[in-house]
Amino acid sequence: MLPLVALVGRPNVGKSTLFNALTRSRDALVHDEPGVTRDRHYGVCRLDEARPFVVVDTGGIAGVDEGLAGATARQARAAAEEADLVLFVVDGREGASSLDDDILRWLRKSARPTFLVVNKTDGLDARAALAEFSRYGFADVFAISSAHRHGIDELLAKVLARL
Ligand code: GDP
Ligand code: MG
Repeated sequence: MLPLVALVGRPNVGKSTLFNALTRSRDALVHDEPGVTRDRHYGVCRLDEARPFVVVDTGGIAGVDEGLAGATARQARAAAEEADLVLFVVDGREGASSLDDDILRWLRKSARPTFLVVNKTDGLDARAALAEFSRYGFADVFAISSAHRHGIDELLAKVLARL
């Protein structure tokens, strides 16, 4: 069975855009409206042909414990718990939010190996963008731009080294 990497984060941080960059597909639904991706979505990353792995694009986690948002949050948690590696995706433009804090809390409980991926750093000072999230205390942090494919190769190399 191929290793599994889960993309986890609040709505609109760019999980589906990163999913597309990794899987080079347009399958994932990318939309400006937060929370549009509701279902788990699986694809295979073959950027290194010798070492494919499965990527799961979890739905936006709306932080509400009922209805569709609640079901989505449960699916995202389930995906993270079965993953070999979690990429916790945050928005470098908006900075840390209380929803990011909430997600981080349950990610720590799930205790899966996790990298912090600060997306949307195109046109930003990468160091400043990362500093905004330094209180999260991650050893593995990456400043990327999924939309422009910046930093994807470095991230991929570290992901493969961890799988
Ligand atoms: P998701 O809800 O986490 O899956 O986020 P999406 O992938 O649907 O992206 C939400 C919005 O952010 C869309 O308008 C994307 O075009 C935009 N976006 C995603 N990645 C980047 C990026 O690296 N840079 C910029 N500037 N915008 C991005
Ligand atoms: Mg999405």
